[in-house]
Amino acid sequence: MSLQDITDRIAKAETAAGRAAGSVKLIAVSKVQPDERVQAILDQGHRCFGENRVQEAAGKWPDFTAQFPDVDLHLIGPLQTNKARQAMELFSTIHSVDRPKLARTLARLAQEVGSCPDLFIQVNTGEEEQKAGILPADADAFIAECRELDLPVRGVMCIPPVDEEPALHFALLAKIAGRNGLEGLSMGMSSDFEKAIALGATHIRVGSAIFGERVRPRE
Ligand SMILES: *Cc1c(COP(=O)(O)O)cnc(C)c1O
Repeated sequence: MSLQDITDRIAKAETAAGRAAGSVKLIAVSKVQPDERVQAILDQGHRCFGENRVQEAAGKWPDFTAQFPDVDLHLIGPLQTNKARQAMELFSTIHSVDRPKLARTLARLAQEVGSCPDLFIQVNTGEEEQKAGILPADADAFIAECRELDLPVRGVMCIPPVDEEPALHFALLAKIAGRNGLEGLSMGMSSDFEKAIALGATHIRVGSAIFGERVRPRE
């Protein structure tokens, strides 16, 4: 599907939900995509991208940002504390803050550097053992803890379980955001972003629908 098709679908979903045009930010998820595909999307004028690994982003983005200084990079994958400093240099926004140790590290570095990316708290709405994210029952306390650390918490993020109705998870995430006075809702991917927009998403993370299927490099 072309970038234009996706932006048309976003506009339709915004209108259908009675939301303002342009109220949803499209994060084009470029992880493991070949450079030519990324270049093509940049050439069409899109500037907001998502990566799930710090290392991969550090390898591929400096050349692109030299060409396009207004690129806006979002980290959407798990963050190890020993990569936090590098992540803060590369990304405008981190969507995967999910544990106290990481929050404390980010707060310490933010003090040291004098700035901090916008932060989203990742919530494990499906309570899946293998998945990152704070449990829904612990989310309010963790958000409060991050605020006490003076971290710029802008919203919450979730990745619904693959085999469940995503709308239930989007609604739960919206509820957590609402009761904590957070405006940002990072939810919705290629297969479900219209549902996410209907339920209030402010940031959608769309990969394969824009770039085509991911070709995983052998590891
Ligand atoms: C890969 C990824 C996406 C994009 O997934 P698609 O199904 O390709 O749109 C969105 N969010 C996260 C956290 C991801 O890791």
